[in-house]
Amino acid sequence: MWFRRDLRLRDNPALLAAIDQARQDGDGRVVPLFVVDDEFWLPAGPVRKAYLAASLDALGASLDRNLLIQSGDPAVVVPQVAAAAGATAVHCAADYGPKGRLRDARVAHALGSTPLVRTGSPYAVAPGTIRKADDTPYRVYTPFYRAWRTHGWRAPAPNPPDGVDWWMPVECVGRPEASVDIDLPPAGEVAAWQQWERFRTSGLADYTDTRNRPDIAGTSQMGHHLKWGEIHPRSLLDGLTEETFEKELCWREFYADVLFHNPQSTHESLNPRYDSIMRWTTGDLADDWFNAWEIGHTGYPFVDAGMRQLRAEGWMHNRVRMVVASFLIKDLHIPWQRGARTFMHWLRDGDVSSNAHGWQWTAGCGTDASPFYRVFNPVSQGIKFDPDGDYVRRYIPELRHLAGAAAHEPWVAQDGYAHGYPERIVDHRAEREVALADHAALKR
Ligand code: FAD
Repeated sequence: MWFRRDLRLRDNPALLAAIDQARQDGDGRVVPLFVVDDEFWLPAGPVRKAYLAASLDALGASLDRNLLIQSGDPAVVVPQVAAAAGATAVHCAADYGPKGRLRDARVAHALGSTPLVRTGSPYAVAPGTIRKADDTPYRVYTPFYRAWRTHGWRAPAPNPPDGVDWWMPVECVGRPEASVDIDLPPAGEVAAWQQWERFRTSGLADYTDTRNRPDIAGTSQMGHHLKWGEIHPRSLLDGLTEETFEKELCWREFYADVLFHNPQSTHESLNPRYDSIMRWTTGDLADDWFNAWEIGHTGYPFVDAGMRQLRAEGWMHNRVRMVVASFLIKDLHIPWQRGARTFMHWLRDGDVSSNAHGWQWTAGCGTDASPFYRVFNPVSQGIKFDPDGDYVRRYIPELRHLAGAAAHEPWVAQDGYAHGYPERIVDHRAEREVALADHAALKR
């Protein structure tokens, strides 16, 4: 059983398939394998590395310390382990990401006559499944959501049987060292279920009202658990009656589907005219502005609080992700790809499809592009969604002396800048006009 983004034992059809096959064709022994592949490991930021390392520890503990960790190219390592084990097959869940698909094709080829059996995926409905009546993929979320719901999904798979004979036919190299100066939430399947139960019983009922409020812990915090498959979305959807939450889970499925059909969209705008029509800031000014954005020194409190939350916690609230992304693209005129890289570096739930398409949605160059006139106002968004200024004061000590919503507008208070908070690097109203003119040109 080759684990990748499915670091759990429950509701894991690929694992059940491996156990079944071992019991039918072999001596019942199953080798649980994880391969640390530099192609994926090296570009991951310190937060995701540290989280993955902790998740591997948790998976190893649930396998009575029998998780075989190897490092290297899976096209070499997987066949080696399969040969050492005398494996009749290698089981895994299908990967639908562009790099994962290529890797799996190489591994299947390298395995020769030993089949690579793919069962299930990290999604309730596998990418590529939902198609329009004319057999083309959806490019707009709402009709995709309707079709996805009509299609439906399987019930969660049963738990693995007791007494599986886990086996390490070769020596384990141990998990990679990774640490980060951030308090990450507990990783692993047990933690995922605990978090889900906590949210299901005490957060879900208010989710529609609180999910847009970054000052309140109103969202599920399931992103990193889903990212690593510590829990399957099917398990969350099972018996779920809360429609808003179901729709959010569907955004994840939609973006995976879009990426499946457009593998280049991890780094290229889905609208090919977009990049050349926008008037981008260039040279030193672009670097200065980008740096100010990255460290939370733009002078716009809601934007700066978001970027400081990202660096302090490896996470940022969804509402604020939209606002900081809009600010980088439409106020600073810096391409979305640069911001997306920063997000992938810091986010503990960093996921290539949700991230690239969340950025493109905000930029207005993806599917479901936000209407061209939608440029988030960083001040009014803050006042609306952080009405008492608590979120801003939590992350920006220089604004703690300003009470209530005044923290969103330090330029109004006489002592607004008394504790070193920077002045605004651009004038939102003026930059908004530039963005609108560019989008009007794009539309023409
Ligand atoms: P909840 O509100 O509790 O949502 C539950 C789950 O639904 C999430 O865990 C996630 O799996 C899914 N979900 C919710 N909203 C979205 C969405 N808009 N798109 C896709 N899935 C969604 N999400 C990631 O998982 N990884 C990313 O790298 C990522 N990058 C983003 C970048 C930008 C610019 C934007 C605007 C959004 C991004 N999102 C990303 C989506 C969203 O912000 C996060 O999924 C969410 O904030 C995670 O917190 P949560 O689990 O508490 O969310």
